[in-house]
Amino acid sequence: MQLLEKRFELPVLPDRRYWTPEYLASISKTIRELKLARQAVILAHNYMWDPVKEVADFVGDSLGLSQQASRTEAKTIVFCGVHFMAETAAIICPEKLVLLPELKAGCSLSSSITVEELRDWKALHAGAIVVSYVNTSAEVKAESDYCCTSSNAEKVIRSIPPHKKILFLPDKFLGYYLAQRTGRDMEIWQGQCHVHAKINARDIDRIMEAHPYADLLIHPECGCVSSCMYRALQGLPGQPKTYFLSTEGMTRHVRQSKATEFAVATEIGILDRMRKENPDKHFIPVNENAVCEFMKTITPESILRSLEEMVHPITVPSRVAHKARLAIERMLALT
Ligand code: SF4
Repeated sequence: MQLLEKRFELPVLPDRRYWTPEYLASISKTIRELKLARQAVILAHNYMWDPVKEVADFVGDSLGLSQQASRTEAKTIVFCGVHFMAETAAIICPEKLVLLPELKAGCSLSSSITVEELRDWKALHAGAIVVSYVNTSAEVKAESDYCCTSSNAEKVIRSIPPHKKILFLPDKFLGYYLAQRTGRDMEIWQGQCHVHAKINARDIDRIMEAHPYADLLIHPECGCVSSCMYRALQGLPGQPKTYFLSTEGMTRHVRQSKATEFAVATEIGILDRMRKENPDKHFIPVNENAVCEFMKTITPESILRSLEEMVHPITVPSRVAHKARLAIERMLALT
């Protein structure tokens, strides 16, 4: 099944010419004051702009943000991520107000499959267990048995009885990676993230030639995953030390590793955090054009407006939320 049609429109990157240190300091101060007044918490994904991460109470990957949403006592969650993440928070915390600062914050991967397509696919594979990557709409989650993130996807797959067939969606690169890792009987939906898909094996070769001693950190959504995994499994001479990790796994790895140089194959927003947390280490993006335009729609200005006007509330119909919650809770139980 090939998904050829374009299902999403890329937003334009914001104009950042006005983001001087003085301007950012001033807007951050106002955001922090309003956040207190609104009893709000700000959660930010690793791929956000740096000034957005600066005002956040918690920065992490999808799984970490879901866990924070489930634990927070704040009345309002300002979710600096993309739409499906805010939906997930709204499902986990129905009693809280979840705000997404910018409605254009969609996701090409999440757009790869609709609930109707999933129903048709399930009908072709009766009795199979459906595992959805968290990058899906609430409706797709509601039709799934399990959710997972790149942090716990392997654990989720291994928890399913071995005789069961698995339908994995929507990311084909992560799906192939998991099928190879676990040897499970899996049907894989042919979706992809437009940012990670463009990180290919040629990028890896070019970067590793220039930095042969760097640890190579690859997000399993990347287009280079299959070939890099094959090479890593072959243990070819000169093969860099290769690690397939979620963004949170990457930040943990660089903190603990004795290496001083790291080639990073994922959205480049994560590098700001790595550099800040590890000033004595050197980080190289495998593809410096790996920028998620959707994530980058969230700006300090949109957070400020979100807190001032309490926009944009994200809600999920209770019938959908109830079913989706089961899949999400199974994911959270396997962390
Ligand atoms: S990086 Fe890819 S998967 Fe992540 S939000 Fe952007 S489009 Fe979606």
